[in-house]
Amino acid sequence: MRGNEIVDIRELTTQVEAFIADMGWSGPQSPWPRTPRNLATSVVIEAAELLQHFQWGDEVADPDALGAEMADVLIYLLQLAVVTGIDLEAATVAKLARNRQRFSSLKNRRDAEDAEKELETRFWSQSTSD
Ligand SMILES: [Mg+2]
Repeated sequence: MRGNEIVDIRELTTQVEAFIADMGWSGPQSPWPRTPRNLATSVVIEAAELLQHFQWGDEVADPDALGAEMADVLIYLLQLAVVTGIDLEAATVAKLARNRQRFSSLKNRRDAEDAEKELETRFWSQSTSD
């Protein structure tokens, strides 16, 4: 790690891969084989550890510990992207675009409903004041 500098997803991936290589965990002799299944399992296990922070409430009691669990999730997710050959940055950008398109019709419908309610409210307030 290089202090608190801002790094992008590719640099984070490079740093994670360098750490894995330095530890000797990337080869087939690794006690923790980096198969897609093992890494996906690890993402979920770390997500469960993240959830433990909210087991009995919504308060963030220990932000540092919470951040460490969030980082664990990301570190395994970045490894899963490498092992599966998925460009996680591109996948995330594409998914956000799909979500924006998917939910824009919902937002438009909600905006139309709000406008209709506003008109009704104005109509009834005028009717009762006359
Ligand atoms: Mg953890």
